[in-house]
Amino acid sequence: MSDFARYSRQIVLREVGVNGQQLLRDSSVLIVGVGGLGAPAALYLAGAGLGRLILTDRDRVEPSNLQRQIVYRGSDVGRSKLDAAAEALRALNAECEIETLPGPLDEAGMGAAVRNADLVLDCSDNFPTRVMLNAICVAARKPLVSGAAIRFEGQLALFDSARGSACYACLYPDTGETQETCEEAGVLGPSVGVVGSLQALLAIKRLLGLGDDAGRLHLWDALRMSWRTLNIPRDPNCPVCGARPGAAHG
Ligand SMILES: [Zn+2]
Repeated sequence: MSDFARYSRQIVLREVGVNGQQLLRDSSVLIVGVGGLGAPAALYLAGAGLGRLILTDRDRVEPSNLQRQIVYRGSDVGRSKLDAAAEALRALNAECEIETLPGPLDEAGMGAAVRNADLVLDCSDNFPTRVMLNAICVAARKPLVSGAAIRFEGQLALFDSARGSACYACLYPDTGETQETCEEAGVLGPSVGVVGSLQALLAIKRLLGLGDDAGRLHLWDALRMSWRTLNIPRDPNCPVCGARPGAAHG
């Protein structure tokens, strides 16, 4: 390891240590969407010494992003989010390899990106992307950390179908409803930052094999400052994971 001091605060944790740090260095994480969730998640993962971050996004930086998308500066307005985020992340940690995939990715492109990663963060802002990403992650047996935040509510879950947990479609069947957006409904920056930060935490824990977070839905209420955690039952009739008995496919 080239820089022990940089990671000393986490290496000193018995549960991480030098071996855990090397595990992170050997790991790749795909972050789909570098917005309010993906920005803090990417910063924390680059800071933690992930070996490679793969980012995909379709947007340019807009003034209204700066309230919560903390990887961007005012001077980035008008730039591609991928270019601006990659520059900031490299400036934070040159040891972290940053790969950028301009979106929107089609199913084949997203599939290739998922297969190149050890773990996926869904930081997207739309239901069709969430549905597609979940199906790809189930098929590729990759852990998926899903996050969302709107108004004063946030939610967070690790879906790990390779280990028999429920998938995103077990929780949210595709009912064809359109989802609200933060543009219409609003959100506070720190509230979405809490969820994005915890997506990075769940990713690090899963990569290091710490705890068992799969299959639980964490609901954040920013007005009450409280969390609720629910078990997500696996739906035996789920069109995405239901027809695939747990241990099949290798
Ligand atoms: Zn399912």
